[in-house]
Amino acid sequence: MVEWLRRQAPLIGDDCAVIPNGPADLLLKVDMLVENVHFRRAERSAADVGYRALARALSDMAAMGGTPKYALVALALAPWTTRRWVEGFYRGFLGLAKQHRVELAGGDLSHADQLVADVFLTGTAPRGKALRRHGARPGDTIYVSGPLGRRAWCFQPRLALGRRLRQDKAVTACMDISDGIALDLHRLMAASGVAAELHRVPLARGASEQRALHYGEDYELLFTRRIPFGKPPDGVIAVGKIVNGKRGSVTLRGETVPPVGYDHWKQL
Ligand SMILES: [Mg+2]
Repeated sequence: MVEWLRRQAPLIGDDCAVIPNGPADLLLKVDMLVENVHFRRAERSAADVGYRALARALSDMAAMGGTPKYALVALALAPWTTRRWVEGFYRGFLGLAKQHRVELAGGDLSHADQLVADVFLTGTAPRGKALRRHGARPGDTIYVSGPLGRRAWCFQPRLALGRRLRQDKAVTACMDISDGIALDLHRLMAASGVAAELHRVPLARGASEQRALHYGEDYELLFTRRIPFGKPPDGVIAVGKIVNGKRGSVTLRGETVPPVGYDHWKQL
């Protein structure tokens, strides 16, 4: 179904939609956070839910090298939701928005059996310069922006790094890791029509390799870069290289890695 939809709507396929709009392209993102799918209310404060609802959308803006600008929030309140909870949600949301100069510009309110927070985010990138998924070529080096498998709930989206990568002419493709590196690298390779050989998976403290490969929600950037054009930014980690091979295939130390990560379809 997704492939069918992509044929009908060719702007679909990157972390944000890129809309030509004069000297700067417009970047559009929508991201939904659902109670009991993405969080349990007993485990997270309202402010933490509000923070993460925006952070996830900002991570996709970072993946495009974009500068975020305006956000709209549609909230479906659950029967348990109080005014105090909603205030807490917006405290967390607006705290992060302020850090990145994002202005809350409107939204919608409804109710449902479980709480849903849907964030719509706009941003910009210089015309034709947004980072995309389709540019990786054989010989490129694959990097991640940090260790994988366990990142903080209230993570800091990699916006500054994304903009830096967008200005680096050697960077060929980029996305963020939201569903595990195995699945997201497969997506990057499929979009670029190439294959990947991973040499290593850098692990966050306490994370296993399986978790780092197939667990989602690292929100680190995954990007490819031509060699030998200067040095990559400090702190990024080389994990492998792009090769000619079956479109979308990923190997780790010679073994095939299945494109398995968090999949909403499998949860139905
Ligand atoms: Mg993404």
